[in-house]
Amino acid sequence: MSNTSELDKMSACANCGKGEEAAINLKACTACKLVKYCSRECQIAHRPQHKKECKRRAKELHDEKLFKQPPPIEDCPICMIRLPMLGSGRVYMACCGKLICRGCVYAFQSRATKKEHDVCPFCRTPPQKSDEKKIKQYEKRMDTNDPIAIKGIGSMYRDGDYGLPRDQAKALELWHRAGELGSADAYYNIGIAYDTGDGVEVDEKKAVHYWELGAMRGNAEARNNLGAMEGNLGNMDRALKHWMIAARDGYSNSLEGIKIMYKHGDATKDDYAKALQLHQTYVDEIKTAQRDEAAAVREEYKYY
Ligand SMILES: [Zn+2]
Ligand SMILES: [Zn+2]
Ligand SMILES: [Zn+2]
Ligand SMILES: [Zn+2]
Repeated sequence: MSNTSELDKMSACANCGKGEEAAINLKACTACKLVKYCSRECQIAHRPQHKKECKRRAKELHDEKLFKQPPPIEDCPICMIRLPMLGSGRVYMACCGKLICRGCVYAFQSRATKKEHDVCPFCRTPPQKSDEKKIKQYEKRMDTNDPIAIKGIGSMYRDGDYGLPRDQAKALELWHRAGELGSADAYYNIGIAYDTGDGVEVDEKKAVHYWELGAMRGNAEARNNLGAMEGNLGNMDRALKHWMIAARDGYSNSLEGIKIMYKHGDATKDDYAKALQLHQTYVDEIKTAQRDEAAAVREEYKYY
């Protein structure tokens, strides 16, 4: 198809041929942005003819967005170094709404007096003494539309923690709200619910949809799952693309996945070498002595 005909397509209604010269307001097909129409009627009339091309292009546009390296999560506000990808590497402070790396929490606590031990290393707020007060603190953050707090309360309802009743419907409602406000982890959780049928009917299509939303916003676990699903379907090139992105974001299972692909001849030696290098780049970005020390001290710790 020549460029001229592409242009023609965009300056005239794809169905009736009326053009912009007739002062008609043409609207592009929102799914593919390949054609324009003068009216809703023309769009409907043209549908049978356009459907196939439209779907192909819409999928292409979707994949362009899906297979982009997402921006990294923010830096720790204390050490100013990129936060680890895994939830276990960071702590959410519901007092100030900051995510702090466990290295900084560990360093703070090893210097602190007994009295100060559990205050927030960032804003120095003392810890909340009761479950009720803890939930109140989260709810305060929730009122400011903090997606991490909203996702967190959702997870507390899922598990029935801090004296809340176990309520998966409530959890899902909060995760949807948190996802819309930008929480990649909330979308990952919704995907899990559809994958396992927790509070909803099992629905693989919906699981994929929500894992895609999570993956595009930076949840590497969701992306790892998408890679595994593509691998199971025999779509090795798509599996490799997902795992490469997740490996760059530090997800070791995805690196492991690429290693297995290489062993089975589904990925090249260069692919595996590239994945190793990308994963190492991540490790170099997030590694600090404090974080290593914190990781060596294995504390029971739950990240919401
Ligand atoms: Zn028309
Ligand atoms: Zn279209
Ligand atoms: Zn830090
Ligand atoms: Zn704080």
